[in-house]
Amino acid sequence: MDLPIDREKATLALDGPVNRVRLVSPARAKALEKLGIRTVRDLVTHFPRSYIDLSSVESCASARIGETCTIRGTVHEIKLKKPRYNLKLVEIALVDGTGIIVVTAFRQPWLMDQIKAGDAVAVSGKVTFDYGYKRMTNPFIEVIGGGEGPALTGTVVPVHPATEKLSAAWVRRIVANGLEEIRGAFDPLPLGLRLRYRLMGRQAALTAIHFPATPAEADEARRRLVYEELLYLELFLMQEGAERARDREAVAHIVDGPRVAAFAGALPFVLTGEQERARDDILGVLAAPTAANHMLLGDVGTGKTVVAGFALAAAADSGCQAMLLAPTEVLARQHAEGLGALLEAAGVGCALLTGSTAAPERASITERFAAGELDVLIGTHALLSDDVRPARLSLAVIDEQQRFGVDQRAKLLAKGEAPDALYLTATPIPRTLALALYGNLTLSYIKHRPHDAVLRTTRVLPRELQGEALDAARAALERGEQVYVVCPLVGKGTEERDGKAAGKRSDADAAGEEYHPAVAIEGEADFADDDVTAATREAEVLQKTTFPDFTVALLHGAMGTEAKREVMEQFRDGAVDVLVATTVIEVGVDVPNATVMIVQDADRFGLAQLHQLRGRVGRGTKAAEVFLVSASTREESLARLAAMETTDDGFELAAFDLSLRREGDILGNRQHGASGLKLVNIMRDGAIIEAAHADAAALLDIDPNLEEPDHRALAREVRIAFSGEVVAGG
Ligand code: ADP
Ligand code: MG
Repeated sequence: MDLPIDREKATLALDGPVNRVRLVSPARAKALEKLGIRTVRDLVTHFPRSYIDLSSVESCASARIGETCTIRGTVHEIKLKKPRYNLKLVEIALVDGTGIIVVTAFRQPWLMDQIKAGDAVAVSGKVTFDYGYKRMTNPFIEVIGGGEGPALTGTVVPVHPATEKLSAAWVRRIVANGLEEIRGAFDPLPLGLRLRYRLMGRQAALTAIHFPATPAEADEARRRLVYEELLYLELFLMQEGAERARDREAVAHIVDGPRVAAFAGALPFVLTGEQERARDDILGVLAAPTAANHMLLGDVGTGKTVVAGFALAAAADSGCQAMLLAPTEVLARQHAEGLGALLEAAGVGCALLTGSTAAPERASITERFAAGELDVLIGTHALLSDDVRPARLSLAVIDEQQRFGVDQRAKLLAKGEAPDALYLTATPIPRTLALALYGNLTLSYIKHRPHDAVLRTTRVLPRELQGEALDAARAALERGEQVYVVCPLVGKGTEERDGKAAGKRSDADAAGEEYHPAVAIEGEADFADDDVTAATREAEVLQKTTFPDFTVALLHGAMGTEAKREVMEQFRDGAVDVLVATTVIEVGVDVPNATVMIVQDADRFGLAQLHQLRGRVGRGTKAAEVFLVSASTREESLARLAAMETTDDGFELAAFDLSLRREGDILGNRQHGASGLKLVNIMRDGAIIEAAHADAAALLDIDPNLEEPDHRALAREVRIAFSGEVVAGG
């Protein structure tokens, strides 16, 4: 091959540091880093979260009330208002020759720095009429000329995820320069595949997804890039699977030993039929002498933990060890205390290891684990660290597996010879898609909660009627039950996490909703003061005025681990009646005596998160009530929340809200840029998933190590996407 040298150079440029791109000053490089962008590749795959279609522009006069449209105009006036202590809004009067529209943007005070009177702006959203004016609330707002952004010539304006420091207009400009930098780079997709599906070339697709001439062109570009992401994922998973299969034979577990029997005897309840079936499935794959890959899918509260307990006991009966990985400290601790106690009672030695385990204790635990004196180690990410070296690991269980990246899973499994893997998840993945995504995976489903007959009702309440929720809470408290009050994360910290979740926005967002990231990662210390203030004030008010005769406590992410643990313990023991919390309680927390949950500003949460949250109640034998309190009057928000009233089933809910089936929820890569998937939506892209699955299998069939000249570029891309390899300096 004698290719012009610049093609090679352009290809390498992809993985060069982003600061080589024109206009990326050190300060902007820093701002880009906040968005997770370090390399040129990161930059050109920093995809728009939506587009404004200027070809369907209305004028202020022609815009119809109640309809969604785009209006182009000039900023007549822009001002910042503070109607409440913790609320800022920016109000813009936009004029266009035919009239005026008033635009209100909540909680985006930085717009004041980005937009000036006289700027040409496009706004896209739903038109309402209030106090004598046509209005838009929280529309997409884009400076399209006059301001600092490049003048746009096309009819479609991309809206890139941006930060306070770097406006969407600037991101757009830098992305354009980034695309310039890689012009001529090789297309890693073999030509045969591109022709088969009539896929655009990569450079064309990247250009078109950022700067499409028409919405249809953006769709075509997306199709190509989604296929590419999925092909790499499939290749990675299949190669990894093949490697595991090549490994030494796996342990054929003893699944009817004394500890398994004792564990069954220690349970305070009888398993449901579905749990029994899942247990039998799992013990079946554990007994086989091959490395198992089993996923247990069940909506929140269906009782997956105890089923996994049988597997852990079987590992101990087989003279081996097991690990149970959980995404948060609260959850790991709960497993250690609940499941751990049952296992101990059955003669299985357990210990807990988390980031906050004191050094001497940690040393003693890892030592005992390495010496084979401990059967089961339960913990958080701390389990992945190098000093955790089991003597004979035969089983790795990953709870809430959607919270972990493929690289973390690989790291855990690498701690044993060929350990069986068991994944627990509440993400509703249809069977065919799960098989396509994970290849040789076996699956069990649990569809019903143990006390399914126990009613859990959900009601959406406007703020004015939240007294009804408080009345229900009081009634529950007087019956000796407990109450959760959940406060959202608001304010500046939101925007920063927003950056981390770049490209992973929900569909609600794309539909013009105010965006609220559905991520609250415990241990992440960037909670804004506002958040803490809101929750703290709520707790104070509830204690002083609403429930002075009960004990109210506060739990939020910015508290120390010890303090958090203490509060959780008091709540579990019943010493605390009302727990006011941010979303740290989102995942897995289990206090069956809690029967009422009030979610404040519920419209600020994603449906998936609300469903996780309400999974915290209705776990015992008592009926449970969930109240979603919202001050929003926006129809879309209320319609979204109403879906929560209509169904209590996470799988059904997912059918309603595509965003629930985001790939990010399956592979958990919103925390891990290394996982390589940015555009895939497993619901919408089912057909492409299946195609990529078949194509990857066919490719590996003829070239298992991807060594043929035609495939080398592919192999490289797969490595970069999934190995967590950091290519650029820094
Ligand atoms: P998830 O599937 O969301 O992880 P958990 O494993 O935390 O759910 O279980 C939810 C609750 O149901 C726990 O309190 C658990 O003890 C309880 N539970 C599980 N199985 C049963 C059962 N068969 N009968 C009664 N309660 C059960
Ligand atoms: Mg669980």
